[in-house]
Amino acid sequence: MDFTLSTEEKEVRDWVRTFVRREIIPLEPDVLRRERAGQPGLTLSDLAGLQAKAREAGFWGVQTPAEYGGMGLSAVMTALLEVELGRSFVPFRFGGAADNILFHANDDQKRRYLLPTIEGERLSCFAITEPGAGSDARNIRTQAYQDGTDWVITGEKTFITGGNEADFTMVFAVTDKAALNSPGAADGGVTCFLVDRDMGWKSEPIPTMGEWGPAALVFDHVRVPSENILGEVGRGFELAMQWIGRGRYLLPARAIGACERLVEMGIEHARSRVTFGEPIANRQAIQWMIADSAVEIEALRWLVLHAAWQVDAGMDSRQAQSMAKLYGGVKANEIVDRVLQIHGGMGYTRELPVERWYRELRLLRIYEGTDEIQRRTIARNLIKGHISVSGALG
Ligand SMILES: Cc1cc2nc3c(=O)[nH]c(=O)nc-3n(C[C@H](O)[C@H](O)[C@H](O)COP(=O)(O)OP(=O)(O)OC[C@H]3O[C@@H](n4cnc5c(N)ncnc54)[C@H](O)[C@@H]3O)c2cc1C
Repeated sequence: MDFTLSTEEKEVRDWVRTFVRREIIPLEPDVLRRERAGQPGLTLSDLAGLQAKAREAGFWGVQTPAEYGGMGLSAVMTALLEVELGRSFVPFRFGGAADNILFHANDDQKRRYLLPTIEGERLSCFAITEPGAGSDARNIRTQAYQDGTDWVITGEKTFITGGNEADFTMVFAVTDKAALNSPGAADGGVTCFLVDRDMGWKSEPIPTMGEWGPAALVFDHVRVPSENILGEVGRGFELAMQWIGRGRYLLPARAIGACERLVEMGIEHARSRVTFGEPIANRQAIQWMIADSAVEIEALRWLVLHAAWQVDAGMDSRQAQSMAKLYGGVKANEIVDRVLQIHGGMGYTRELPVERWYRELRLLRIYEGTDEIQRRTIARNLIKGHISVSGALG
């Protein structure tokens, strides 16, 4: 079994590592200062400037296929890059990306939605969650009925990332209630619509404990032409699952970088902080926190890379992805808590980014499938005998 990276993988990874060190980490004090003043840490134009710099070096559309001008990198390579980006809390992402389900668009929709999204001229958001339906996404109530060649959408979505800034949304609505409720046809009845903001939906920011507030979206008889249906009528749920499943390994990958950086901060503080005549690094209580964190980061790294490897190999990676997402969410939260503890009172202040990471990492246990939903998936696969507890190697 060979765990080494190829020369090319190392080169790409190292370029991003250097970019993060030179271009992103120096922005941290300013980002913290702005966030404390209630402003976005990174404005859209700051982000575009950084993305343009990365683009000059060829880093554009990391997972976007080459035919759309992207790099078309593998899942493993993308996970390695996410680890590097995760080493800073500055909300940077490479440009040139579009939601995976937009690639299902027809030629006209590609021209109007996909290509401008890749170019960064349009901003999308993915809207399935509702006040009454989160984990239980099949319970959505937003409805669309047909009126001539148009569809009319009414309902409310909540917690939509990017919903405050997006100029169009991929919204999921019930178009056939009977199909939705009939046994054996659980995936029918829901349709995905591409809806421009100027077609009439409204957004309202939702304050959260994190720095990037999602939005509530309100559709009050919003009229949408049939040509804005993404995919087929009644096949929206499959698209939604494809969007959610696009890369569950990427969220914990980013958390690996955050945890590495946090533990480095913990070690540095433990070396220099003296109590009762000795650095706290000499105390077993502190050493155990550092040791446990390092072991867990290493375990998480291999869970994430293994899930990504399964994606690249075209295997059914859902179990591996759920495991990586669950373990990443739980352990990242334990690790940031330990690092905060090592810093004592300073860890609790806003002088250091530890409390910021503490707030941000908490989300990992909730969105794109809560801990409990991942456990449900993992246990079901085992109990139904789809997968053995011995894992992919059998
Ligand atoms: C900051 C943020 C950004 C988000 N971005 C988006 C977005 O862009 N687009 C979008 O559509 N949604 C988005 N979401 C919604 C997110 O995916 C949901 O919040 C999440 O799926 C959980 O749904 P819920 O909040 O309704 O909780 P619920 O489903 O009501 O769950 C409440 C609790 O019950 C548990 N639970 C539920 N069912 C079971 C069960 N069967 N067994 C055991 N326990 C169970 C859950 O794990 C949880 O602990 C976002 C949420 C947040 C907070």
